[in-house]
Amino acid sequence: AETWESVPLAPPDAIYKLTYAYKDDTYPQKVNLGVGAYRDDNNKPWILPVVKKATERLLQDPNLDHEYLPITGLPEFTSAGARLVLGPDSPALLEGRVSSVQTISGTGANHLGALFLSRFYQWEEGVQKVAYVSDPTWVNHFQIFRGVGIELKTYPYYDPATIGLAFEKYLAFLKAAPRRSVFVMHACAHNPTGVDPTREQWTQIADVVLERAHYVFFDCAYQGFASGDLDNDAWAVREFVKRGAPLLICQSFAKNAGLYGERVGALHIIPPDGERAQSAGARSASGLFEEWKVDIKTMAERIIAMRKELHRLLTEELKTPGNWDHIVNQIGMFR
Ligand code: PLP
Repeated sequence: AETWESVPLAPPDAIYKLTYAYKDDTYPQKVNLGVGAYRDDNNKPWILPVVKKATERLLQDPNLDHEYLPITGLPEFTSAGARLVLGPDSPALLEGRVSSVQTISGTGANHLGALFLSRFYQWEEGVQKVAYVSDPTWVNHFQIFRGVGIELKTYPYYDPATIGLAFEKYLAFLKAAPRRSVFVMHACAHNPTGVDPTREQWTQIADVVLERAHYVFFDCAYQGFASGDLDNDAWAVREFVKRGAPLLICQSFAKNAGLYGERVGALHIIPPDGERAQSAGARSASGLFEEWKVDIKTMAERIIAMRKELHRLLTEELKTPGNWDHIVNQIGMFR
């Protein structure tokens, strides 16, 4: 027992604590604004009809077994994941530059991506490894990166005065950071602010990233879930890939497939043109893709409609003083 006496108790997770308190609360009109999970009009988790259908198909599949998969996961799953985020005609895919690994959802992808960089990125010799995250960011980034020996510092992102993006400061920070710095960026529906750069701003961010030879660690946990359109939400990632920025993508299917507990995710590593990927390395939903897109739209449209309704209630109905436009300008489930 002595061996483990010095192990500190992990601090309780604030969001999970809130979830348990919520479950115990008997107030009939209670609303849980803690954990980021989609709820339907009855405040219930929503099983996507397409997921139900796929599950039924799987159960009837006589060839389904529970054998080991290859070390990097189910190839049909990881390559479909790569096509989904990069687009089917992505030059990186066509040139075979993408290395993909199945991971334990987006969290596992973040961990593996951070570990990969910690071990193999060309860090400056003899200096503490540092990566940069937005201020604020998904809180788990801190434990994940620090756990693999990378110190995390923040770059300016959210401007409380405008309830929007601190774009000039963000850009200036990117320019001033040491060359070849690692930047963690949320692909869309930034957690926890709901504030995303516009396409024009993303283009300028890409300019500086290329100029300064920075490395982009894309965390993509909400593809399709933000706007209702998978391609639209992957725009920034695809733009960076097209322009040859070195990057990796952490992909989660928790939100866009409503598979929170199954832990379905992937890590995709994409070196720039000319550097061929050394191989760094879920089961079939084929034929159901179009149905899945409809379900994603259902969720995104409900979120957008809820934002509009809240905005309407605050402004027209309650005539609440102040400007509430950020509620409709922000994207996704947050803020
Ligand atoms: N990254 C971001 C920005 C997130 O918001 C989340 C989930 O909330 C994740 C990663 C990881 O999600 P999961 O591990 O459930 O796929």
